[in-house]
Amino acid sequence: MDLKGKTALITGSSRGIGFAIAKAFAEKGANIVINDIKIPDEAIEEIKALGVDCIGVVADISDFEQAESLVKAAKDKFGTVDVVVNNAGITRDGLLLRMKEKDFDDVIRINLKGTFNVIKHASKIMLKQRRGAIINLSSVVGLSGNIGQLNYSASKAGVLGITKTAARELGSRGITCNAIAPGFIKTAMTDVLSDEVKANMLAGIPLGRQGLPEDVAKVAVFFAENDYITGQVLNCDGGMVMQ
Ligand code: NAP
Repeated sequence: MDLKGKTALITGSSRGIGFAIAKAFAEKGANIVINDIKIPDEAIEEIKALGVDCIGVVADISDFEQAESLVKAAKDKFGTVDVVVNNAGITRDGLLLRMKEKDFDDVIRINLKGTFNVIKHASKIMLKQRRGAIINLSSVVGLSGNIGQLNYSASKAGVLGITKTAARELGSRGITCNAIAPGFIKTAMTDVLSDEVKANMLAGIPLGRQGLPEDVAKVAVFFAENDYITGQVLNCDGGMVMQ
């Protein structure tokens, strides 16, 4: 898909990987819908400075109705919804024996159900357009598992199931659906980890550095631009997990 003049909606995109993805799509000429729980004005201004239009829509994507309003706001403003990046996500880490039920439920509700909610509403518009690219943020731990992340790993493995099934169901109408599995990327989500955990993770990365949000954003643009790739998972992890 030529992204110039198209509409890209990115969830959880006021910062981190989502914001880098929003900027990368704006640099390709797409109009941007930033979604988050809070959206600073500067985020919208920074996107607009790239020469495209941008709106911010505050919505909790884990809520079915709020996800519907988010997609509607994008369509009302720009007329189409061409790219959706399901990026919003949280961690609530802890070992299985200590993990609280709420920590399991919250992670599944936001990471997995939130992805369903947005795809459910956006795909209706894409089906009518007969065009669309859906990109879901999974994680390498959805492939490999990770000690202390049973809830998060389950949610990200579930995102892969959503991705492959949506790719099969929507493909005949020209809609692609792919997943990115980032490894250890430098954002607020990983800044909270202890130095010891960070050092251990770095030791397992053949390319020897932490990834940047921009590394992941390049993969999102690649998937959106290529109309003949669907149902795929691409790791962006410096070689951390090899399949
Ligand atoms: P981040 O810096 O924490 O940003 C995530 C954003 O999503 C935050 O602004 C957050 O808002 C927002 N959000 C959370 N719940 C939401 C909801 N219900 N509705 C709307 N927005 C919501 O995280 P990140 O590191 O950029 O991660 C982005 C995605 O990549 C996530 O899906 C994550 O699981 C995945 N990922 C990240 C890494 C990594 O190493 N960073 C690795 C693998 C996968 P609040 O600040 O208010 O919570």
